[in-house]
Amino acid sequence: MNNHTKALPHPIFFIIAKASQELGLSTFVIGGFVRDYILNRGEAKDIDIVTLGSGIALAKKVAQLLPNKPNVQVFKNFGTAMLKTEEIEVEFVGARKESYRKDSRKPSVEEGSLQDDQNRRDFTINAMAISLNKDNYGTLIDPFGGLNHLEEKLIKTPLEPGVTYSDDPLRMLRAIRFATQLNFTIEEDSLQAITQHADRITIISKERIIDELHKILLAAKPSIGFALLEKTKLLDIILPELIALKGIDEIEGQRHKDNFWHTLEVVDNIAQHTDNLWLRWAALLHDIGKAPTKRFDKKIGWTFHSHEFVGAKMVYKLFKRLKMPLNDKMKFVQKMVLMSSRPIVIASDDVTDSAVRRLIFDAGDYIEDLMTLCEADITTKNPKRFKKYHNNFKLVRKKIKEVEERDHVRNFEPPVSGEEIMQTFNLKPSREIGVIKDAIKEAILEGEIPNEYAAAREFMLKKGKQLGLTHV
Ligand code: ATP
Ligand code: MG
Repeated sequence: MNNHTKALPHPIFFIIAKASQELGLSTFVIGGFVRDYILNRGEAKDIDIVTLGSGIALAKKVAQLLPNKPNVQVFKNFGTAMLKTEEIEVEFVGARKESYRKDSRKPSVEEGSLQDDQNRRDFTINAMAISLNKDNYGTLIDPFGGLNHLEEKLIKTPLEPGVTYSDDPLRMLRAIRFATQLNFTIEEDSLQAITQHADRITIISKERIIDELHKILLAAKPSIGFALLEKTKLLDIILPELIALKGIDEIEGQRHKDNFWHTLEVVDNIAQHTDNLWLRWAALLHDIGKAPTKRFDKKIGWTFHSHEFVGAKMVYKLFKRLKMPLNDKMKFVQKMVLMSSRPIVIASDDVTDSAVRRLIFDAGDYIEDLMTLCEADITTKNPKRFKKYHNNFKLVRKKIKEVEERDHVRNFEPPVSGEEIMQTFNLKPSREIGVIKDAIKEAILEGEIPNEYAAAREFMLKKGKQLGLTHV
């Protein structure tokens, strides 16, 4: 019953056990691997090994016993060592006891027993160990009832929650991340401690915070995590732009929707259709411009004029503040936010082809992603409207397909090159070339001429004449 030898099918475990025995050590598999095995989450690729003694020495011994003698990466400062094979990654550490200072999440460390090591783990479900020792190979060592908590779907700390979270505030985000990934509940005492110590999150590096946010966003139902971040007030510190969307105002009997909870629904919706992390980020941020642009107009009610434009600018600031990449990923998110209302505008029956061409032209390769975002944005609880809006977007998709098949403006290449314009009118590089090129592009998007060479050349000649150029 308490034998979990079948958790250890990988031959590496026998080799670790052998190495441990040869060095006279006591060694255990611990943490996420054990948790995920019990949860049946599929065989984990990273394995954490704890030994009573030197983790580095054990790693080196294991490497020696492996036929291909893999390289051992040693992190002397942390007293850990890492061994990578093609399919797995094993991290070795000596069992330790930790004590913390107030201003840092880096503890001072001394050698300890297995129990000491389990005490320093973040959650009971992450503190279980399985023995790799000869006398009790495969035995589960579960001092805090992690097994029960897995069954109860409960996140609970091994020690007093206040101490655990304030020692290392990253654990607050890990608790919420695991609750989201595993669809577990965070125990009430823990929730209170997280709320109480929320502002300690500021000692955690932005990179680590973002790492956890990415994992929350990539979960099947990210709203679980964001609702917990809201509840514990962590979100006020990490993403105040989202908190600013909270609440419903009412003036003269007119209300607008709560854009925070709406946003979380949109994120859950999009999670069902894409695993693209950055598209999920776009869903999370698509309405952030609504807080600073909110106005009440006596005639038309609540407005969020230009919120897409303001929101796209906020994306840059937010990425910068959180030390996220300011590269093409950020630009993609900006583009999605900026264009997030465009497909809605063309969702009417009498939309012109030119509006569709402009949408395709502006969205380029991201037209699919943009449509996915817009469809996720439909959160109405009115079934008739829900159906109507989805049908509208089906129509938009159909129009996009038709127009694109005919006009090919998706990755628009000018049908007449700048080179040809220069030769035709005997021009040196100059402003006129840009003017003509632009006029051709506009004429195509407006549908005045088809996206074809002959028509474009004729148009160029006409335009040149207008500009007083002579055809040579
Ligand atoms: P995953 O790999 O899915 O993120 P994991 O539980 O394996 O989950 P890791 O970050 O790989 O998480 O850490 C391995 C183990 O180390 C954890 O299971 C836990 O026992 C311990 N651990 C990791 N981070 C912390 C922390 N901040 N505080 C205490 N224990 C931690
Ligand atoms: Mg892990």
